[in-house]
Amino acid sequence: MQVDKFAYYPFISEASTHVENLGISLDSLLNSRAFRTARVRGIERVKEALEGEIKKSHLFGEAQALSELLSYPFARMLVACVNDSLFTRRYALAEAKAAYNILKNENPTFLLEFGEDFRISVEFKDTYFIMHFTDYIHFSNSLKDPAWKLTNRTFRAGKVSITKEEFARLLEEAIRERIDHFLPIPEIPEEVSNFCAPYVAEIKDQFEIQKKKFWATDFGIVEPEFFPPCIFHAIANVKSGVNLAHSMRFAMTSFLLSVGMSVDEILNLFNISPDFGTEKTLYQIEHISGSTGNKYKPPACDTMRTYGNCIGKDRLCKKIKHPLSYYEKRIYLKNKEKENGNEIEQGK
Ligand code: SF4
Repeated sequence: MQVDKFAYYPFISEASTHVENLGISLDSLLNSRAFRTARVRGIERVKEALEGEIKKSHLFGEAQALSELLSYPFARMLVACVNDSLFTRRYALAEAKAAYNILKNENPTFLLEFGEDFRISVEFKDTYFIMHFTDYIHFSNSLKDPAWKLTNRTFRAGKVSITKEEFARLLEEAIRERIDHFLPIPEIPEEVSNFCAPYVAEIKDQFEIQKKKFWATDFGIVEPEFFPPCIFHAIANVKSGVNLAHSMRFAMTSFLLSVGMSVDEILNLFNISPDFGTEKTLYQIEHISGSTGNKYKPPACDTMRTYGNCIGKDRLCKKIKHPLSYYEKRIYLKNKEKENGNEIEQGK
């Protein structure tokens, strides 16, 4: 790949190697006046990600391209210092979306080379990309539109045909996965955390404001702060525009119905997703709620684990076998605490 492309795709292996070969020390990146523009752009990059869109403009000249390229490792340091998995996902999604907007206009030869960096087995024939079905399933798994279902594709000899734009969309998923996977950085050098501290504090404040707005959603009689990690995480993903896998979408919807949320309240939750379709979503929620005669229960923890929907257990998770038991236990503990508090107040 040509060096001038690295600024647009700084997360590919060749771009990282190029940055390493430039021999710029961490100290220089953090302190040198020569890299001030890169740092400013890095901060901007993260703040834009928080707002949902990293803006990319045409780069003029080598100096601007270098600043854009170096702004990426600096932005990653900031995200690592924020050290919040939800924020990391938001950042990874915004980077991947920004890359997709450029990728979809690249020529097929470039896209094939780009795919190789992600070990995606693909060929280009006539006007279509032909992808091995295992790669196809891997990267289309979280895309909700039924058009992505394997049963709705031209599928021959274990290969799936996709358009150029669809291939770029799957590459977006591959990029998101890569960025998310390599963050947070396990050991952040002290000089980095000290340097980043003021920016990180500002970013965290903005993120907290967004989270408050998020939880200001009408959950009706339900107490969302007592949701188990898997459901909390799924709602956070929906709210930040990340597509849920079908099995998680089902688990979240059936859980929310079971704890007492109404169909309309759940519909409002999904209303933020970019490919939200009111009628289709309403139909799915109503179907799970039993409007067609069969009321579905949320899956147990074992099933959640099988589908990869159980995210890091907390202490209470280790004692329960069902996400609903988690919620009920937390409500029980809260009421117990309240009772004890009242007893102490009344001097019993
Ligand atoms: S252990 Fe159960 S309740 Fe806890 S995160 Fe996993 S699936 Fe959810």
